[in-house]
Amino acid sequence: MGKNSKIEWTHHTFNPWWGCTRVSAACVHCYAETWSKRLGKKLWGPKAPRRFLSDAYWMEPIKWNREAKQQGLRARVFCASMADVFEARSDLNGSRERLWKLIEETPQLDWLLLTKRPETDIEDGSMVSDLAQKCLDRNNG
Ligand code: SF4
Repeated sequence: MGKNSKIEWTHHTFNPWWGCTRVSAACVHCYAETWSKRLGKKLWGPKAPRRFLSDAYWMEPIKWNREAKQQGLRARVFCASMADVFEARSDLNGSRERLWKLIEETPQLDWLLLTKRPETDIEDGSMVSDLAQKCLDRNNG
């Protein structure tokens, strides 16, 4: 089990925001939506707002990266358990760009990005190409 996550296959979880919109039958039993509702938050659907996290929260991966480096380890980060990082909404673009930058700044971390929007994202090159380029740069660096 991870240090900052109850999920066995990752060390940490990170959410650039909370909230999403269902896109397929695979979303019917969305754990994140259920959990969010349980906490009294209305963050699902195209018209619902998203919940954005504090600057202090965004600093956590920097700390994880430093710790992993000190220990000579790589650490896995599950991103995102409460959202889909490729959801196409203009109000998410700033946080998405911030996430790509954060990934770039944390080379000791293996970021696991899960999405249910792979086709949509391929069509929207602006969302995928940035990330793909950063991964290629890292692998070639
Ligand atoms: S894409 Fe993921 S987070 Fe979004 S509604 Fe579907 S299962 Fe939930």
